[in-house]
Amino acid sequence: MAESVAVERLESHVCGAWTAADGEGRPLHNPTTGEVVATATTAGVDYAACLAYARDTGGPALRAMTYSERGQLLQGMADALHGVRDELIGIAITNGGNTRGDAKFDIDGAMFTLAHYAKLAEGMDAGALLADGDAIRLGRSPRFVGQHVFAPRLGVAVHINAFNFPAWGFAEKAAVALLAGMPVVTKPGTSSAALAVACVKRIVDEGVLPAGALSLLTGSVGDLLDHLGPQDVLAFTGSADTGCLIRSTEALLRGSVRVSVEADSLNACVLGADVEPESATWDMFVRETAREMTQKAGQKCTATRRILVPEAVIDLVGEALAEELARTRVGDPSLREVRMGPLATEGQLSDVMAGIERLQACTTVVYAGGEAGGTPGRGPLVGIEGDGGWFVSPTLLRAADSDAADIHAFEIFGPVATLLPFDGSGAEAARIIGLGQGCLVSSIYSDDAGFIGDTVRGASPWLGRIHIGSAKVAEHSPGPGGVNPALIHGGPGRAGGGEELGGPRGLAFYMQRTALQGDQPLLAGLLD
Ligand code: NAP
Repeated sequence: MAESVAVERLESHVCGAWTAADGEGRPLHNPTTGEVVATATTAGVDYAACLAYARDTGGPALRAMTYSERGQLLQGMADALHGVRDELIGIAITNGGNTRGDAKFDIDGAMFTLAHYAKLAEGMDAGALLADGDAIRLGRSPRFVGQHVFAPRLGVAVHINAFNFPAWGFAEKAAVALLAGMPVVTKPGTSSAALAVACVKRIVDEGVLPAGALSLLTGSVGDLLDHLGPQDVLAFTGSADTGCLIRSTEALLRGSVRVSVEADSLNACVLGADVEPESATWDMFVRETAREMTQKAGQKCTATRRILVPEAVIDLVGEALAEELARTRVGDPSLREVRMGPLATEGQLSDVMAGIERLQACTTVVYAGGEAGGTPGRGPLVGIEGDGGWFVSPTLLRAADSDAADIHAFEIFGPVATLLPFDGSGAEAARIIGLGQGCLVSSIYSDDAGFIGDTVRGASPWLGRIHIGSAKVAEHSPGPGGVNPALIHGGPGRAGGGEELGGPRGLAFYMQRTALQGDQPLLAGLLD
């Protein structure tokens, strides 16, 4: 069993200082045991002062630097985290219920993303203004031209993150904002905030960033959003309901505050009718789909929820996935042999169990509770005695009717997915994917270029990213779940309509695009 740890009072970092705030604080738990490991609150924090300090102190310091200098800050952040990697992994296990593999996925992903943007900055020799495309001739004379430029916004970037990726969620947003030249106020999901606090503490203690460039709110946001204005931006990751609430905040609407929402996603994967059982593509599909269900106990925005399979092979696929899921040892995440830990909170467990019950009205169980055709629940656990901790075994369901509304409308944020039969055509696969009303990512496993093309063309309007698994890449694929900073992350509709990362594309959110028109050499000089 995981060792018990002392209850720590987590602090916020505002106006350049650490503060423990007032009041008792909200408890943070060890999901493996249910014991309280820390408390956190932002009670008493002066949100307006926090934002003003970031805008007035952090903003000018960042904007005085070149892109490559800001890139060096990002590399400094990555190096600082690397120096305490083992400590961070321990916190992710204790406060997040992560296995070591889950913890590395989050923490190494954070460092990789920071390093990616640091590298990107090396090639940016721009001054204060960043060119957006080439000059455009606007009239008869080649002297009178137009040129789009980006300038960093003068406000603060507020980042509100979900509980599931405390390290990566913080770093992926901060990397882009800081490189663009905006100071960051980051707020992790409170239930798993200990990891984000440790990351920020390390970066602050190492003196990596100028004063005011990075602030941290450990607890609720209070009236923070009411103090945002026209030069500020807000990037939110979390549930669609909270996203909707945030979007409708009056101050954000009145100030035209730029808002990005990354929300729910019922990601799909599709098996092509051309794929033979036990071929390289089949094995890749089974391996990656089981991993997407169980990594981080399914608490991943990119996890697969809907598995589209040609009717003729749905029994075989169910058996193959059940075998793979049975190999996933569930239990104490601090043990090296354990592949899946508990859910992050008691609330998560009750939501997931309620979600499974709801889907059982339109599905049958293929695998649950540790056995084929079993009962959804904890199942057999490794290294756990008694009934403590918030565990649920991987659960694979099967629908008779692939159009059943709940399967496409209701996200269960846990290790749960549903097999859906389809007729094997790309058009039908795309139609069913579209029933989810917008996803971050979906996958196609096939070696048939025609089927892949039909599915990609039909489904792209509903998807932020498409992972195509084929025999040629079976050995090289990281699967659909990893977010590469070179590619965009976000999706339409239910997924929030936001777009993050994507290499240099991500910078645009933090900058104002302005069209200049005038004398060509003069405009070129402005870009030097
Ligand atoms: P959540 O309950 O919506 O919370 C997300 C964040 O919003 C937390 O930091 C939360 O703070 C904060 N929050 C809650 N109410 C707020 C309010 N009224 N005003 C401002 N902030 C508020 O979501 P979650 O349970 O942490 O995360 C699970 C959800 O996130 C899932 O639906 C999942 O699909 C989604 N998600 C999406 C992505 C993506 O990239 N699209 C990535 C990860 C997760 P507290 O923790 O203090 O309540």
